[in-house]
Amino acid sequence: MSSKDRCLWVHGIPGAGKTVLTSYVIRKVIRTVEESGDPRSAYAYYYCHHAHNQDEAAAFLRWIVSQLCRSAQIVPEALYESHRLRLQPSLEELLRHLGLVLERFSRVFIVVDALDESQSRETLIRVIRDILSDPQFLKVQLFVTSREYIDIERAMESISTPISMSNQFVEEDIRTFVAARLKSSSIFQRWPEDFRTEVEEALSAGAKGMFRWAVCQLDILRRLKHQKKAREAIGNLPRTLGETYERIFSCIDPEDIEIVRHCLWWTMFHNAVWDSHIPLPAQVLIDTYYLTADDELADDNPLIPDIEILKESCGCLLSFTGGGDDFDDGVVSLAHYTVREYLQSSRALTGQSSLFARPGTGSTLYEVEAAAVFKQLLKLEAEVDLKDMENHLEGIGEHPVFDDFGLMIAANTSVYRFFTGFQIAWVGKIAVEPSLIFDFLDPQKPHFAHLANAAHKLYMHGCYESEAISKFTYLRLTPSDDPAGLGILANLLWSHRLDLAAKLLQRPGAARIWQGRLSGEVFSEIWNDSGRSFNYTPPPGNIVELFAFALTAGEESPDSLNFLLDHAQGHFNPTSVLIHYIGIHHHGYNETCAGDCPLRRLLGLGADPNARGYPCTPLQIAAVGRDLHGVQTLLQEGADRGATGSIEADDWEAGSALATFSGLRGIEALEIVKSLEHRALGGWRHKKYDDDAAMELLMGLAELPISE
Ligand SMILES: [Zn+2]
Repeated sequence: MSSKDRCLWVHGIPGAGKTVLTSYVIRKVIRTVEESGDPRSAYAYYYCHHAHNQDEAAAFLRWIVSQLCRSAQIVPEALYESHRLRLQPSLEELLRHLGLVLERFSRVFIVVDALDESQSRETLIRVIRDILSDPQFLKVQLFVTSREYIDIERAMESISTPISMSNQFVEEDIRTFVAARLKSSSIFQRWPEDFRTEVEEALSAGAKGMFRWAVCQLDILRRLKHQKKAREAIGNLPRTLGETYERIFSCIDPEDIEIVRHCLWWTMFHNAVWDSHIPLPAQVLIDTYYLTADDELADDNPLIPDIEILKESCGCLLSFTGGGDDFDDGVVSLAHYTVREYLQSSRALTGQSSLFARPGTGSTLYEVEAAAVFKQLLKLEAEVDLKDMENHLEGIGEHPVFDDFGLMIAANTSVYRFFTGFQIAWVGKIAVEPSLIFDFLDPQKPHFAHLANAAHKLYMHGCYESEAISKFTYLRLTPSDDPAGLGILANLLWSHRLDLAAKLLQRPGAARIWQGRLSGEVFSEIWNDSGRSFNYTPPPGNIVELFAFALTAGEESPDSLNFLLDHAQGHFNPTSVLIHYIGIHHHGYNETCAGDCPLRRLLGLGADPNARGYPCTPLQIAAVGRDLHGVQTLLQEGADRGATGSIEADDWEAGSALATFSGLRGIEALEIVKSLEHRALGGWRHKKYDDDAAMELLMGLAELPISE
């Protein structure tokens, strides 16, 4: 098949019904694959979303590959490796991963919805073109939708079969749809038949191919209820979707305003916190209704809304889907992206719309919802929620819903709230009162251990999709003595919330923070003798040393360590931190520390390049890691090439992160570089750094003048 036969590209104006068509196509594809009973058939679908605010090429490939791995129930070795090291694979690598996983299948259907929503999309379009032109992807058939933009048109024309949404079939469909609605609704049933025919004519003609427009007009008519008002509306139909929304918001019953606003805002808040593939449980909208409302309102209005009331009052603004299953109360989304576009437009600032408007996309606008999440989490009643959540998590692995992180958290309101709080604290896309986040991340608070356990359970089950969860699993530190919030500081640094860490250190009495000692567990997938994962429980220690070491647990950026080197001066021993840190330092791995190198800072702060009194020297450890820059820097700063550790020093405690280096005592750095035997100590890194790097290092050592 040519690329044109392997790709359908559906294009149309906003509101033409592309997304509805896409949902239909996806259902059809799922049925086709399932009914074929062929395990070598698979599908995956991806929705582009403007809120991602990026070219979605990488996100798209990651998602598709992960979906296909799930179908194949296998993870290619290369992909596992890059995940294990928590690297961000390049597009080329991702395409290679896709090629690898495709080997498991004979045909694969991929659906990409709303290509135009990708913010800048050159790369995404290039990836689609690659998939259609490279013979290794011949098994893939694509279905792509987008608005009619010139760049997309140019690219898609030559590689796909284009289908316009503006055709007579769509217009006929709109008429059929309108007629069916008029027939099925009890409100419309009360109208005389000739008026219903008039409405059908007016809406079919007025829609001009915009399905969405017709759907909205029916919602307006439904809200107007009375024939007289409906006649006026039909006589003066809005032309655009913008005008249509203006009318919808103007005719929302005053009693419903509060609840419609809550539902819209919370849905948009959810989208801002989570990627679009994490669904919003309908039950959450109900549970959170009184969280954000005034207390007074809650007292005056004892009516607890149910899902039917939400559906009724939100009408065509929100979509409610699913429901019925024990694990699934149904999920909610904005019915159409034009709802969001309208609420953020200046047009929405007038009339009754202004009660619902949410101009701009600034994250502070979501503070109210975010604060509600945290307050709920920190309340004493949260204990009940925690039990609820733990019971829910007990079911992990026994129900198919747990294969999908999104469904997993959406299936239970407590779980949803927890991970939403987590996501906000960790990822920081939503501004929130810092003290709420401090409390939330405080290991001394009762909710915290539950949270850590839940995150660990999810991670062990393979929920890799939330960066917050996987990170949290790597490092669980609890202060043994914490006068001023050291545990909070550790969690903030671990999540790279340096802005909040600085705020924490401005609190009264914060100077006492450095008196604390941290202990806990570091779950590391690297760096032990056999190259396997292990849990490491460091002895209670200084936060700077712990962070210097914790960077080995897969950290990429040294910014948290540098933060500590700045703020904790005088409260740590630079030489000890150097010994903890040197094993992870490597400029060849990535360039993250090239501009602001913690190794140089430590030496500048007076760290002894020979680390006298320890079982081995920083130079020996750098040699094990084939750390060319580390070796050169240490030598320039006066490290002794012949030093081989202190005879008197005790070995590092067995099982500890540094224990593996006790064995270097007595072996010169150059010998370590030459000897294959010692390379095993470097563990995982040697898979990445081949012999060339070792040779380069060897030459680096040989060329530098020997300091006597
Ligand atoms: Zn460096």
